[in-house]
Amino acid sequence: MDFVKRHIVSPGKTPHLKTVETDESGPFKDKDAAKQFTAETVDKIRDLQYRMFVEQKQSLLVVLQAPDAAGKDGLIRKVLGQMNPQGCRTYPFKVPSSSERAHDFLWRIHKATPAAGMVSVFNRSHYEDVLVVRVEDLVPKSVWSKRYDIINHFEEGLMERGTKILKFYLHISPEEQLSRFKKRLENPDKHWKLNVGDYAARDKWKDYREAYEEVLDKCSTRDAPWFVIPADHKWYRDASVASIVHDTLVKMDPQMPPVDVDLDEVRQLYERELNQQRG
Ligand code: AMP
Ligand code: MG
Repeated sequence: MDFVKRHIVSPGKTPHLKTVETDESGPFKDKDAAKQFTAETVDKIRDLQYRMFVEQKQSLLVVLQAPDAAGKDGLIRKVLGQMNPQGCRTYPFKVPSSSERAHDFLWRIHKATPAAGMVSVFNRSHYEDVLVVRVEDLVPKSVWSKRYDIINHFEEGLMERGTKILKFYLHISPEEQLSRFKKRLENPDKHWKLNVGDYAARDKWKDYREAYEEVLDKCSTRDAPWFVIPADHKWYRDASVASIVHDTLVKMDPQMPPVDVDLDEVRQLYERELNQQRG
């Protein structure tokens, strides 16, 4: 199955999120089949990431946005965080600090973008500045409404330098979210994630949906597309994102740099050492 085609938001074809299924299971006959596919795909991602790291020309930025409990952390743990940490970093973006607030909204973001050869994974992102900021009225409309263009220009600048950008919205139903909140309550290891604000956000589900639809509409571009990932099944979420990241890296086609040493000379040095060691 072509997960890119299935989930990409093509410019001018923004879906109504209300009508997009959250519980898709794709081509997988069961959970185990999906997990097997994800494991194999993650291995292939690692090989390509290694080539990109050595090539040191291109880079990859993965943006994750989602309602609470939709699975950003799980996706990072099981898929994106499986890349070699020498070449991959995750950046969580929380409520801005006072020093971050004293700068333009992209200041903290720009510093986290990937250098040549690297992958950055954003757990939340600059898009919060047109999502939570809009829904919670944190700045006036005259301010946030200008940000879509600012974001598109910013991303164009990153692409100009060789950064490929993939943006994922994890699409979960309110029923599945509530069932995950229940599991959090029941599991003491997850109590640190509990947050009364998460319940308040449920009352604004429709406002968030509208804010997300505007993001998809204005900021899903041909070269920095958004994907809407059905996320009620964790295994489908992992498999589809893994597949999209893999296909993207294949297209980027990172190359090992040409060898600039004389292999015969190195072989001779090796033989000499070996002979010396043998006495
Ligand atoms: P979590 O990802 O659950 O740890 O929560 C991080 C919180 O930070 C979320 O409630 C976000 O909405 C909030 N957040 C992230 N970026 C911003 C921002 N630019 N302005 C306001 N709140 C933000
Ligand atoms: Mg949270």
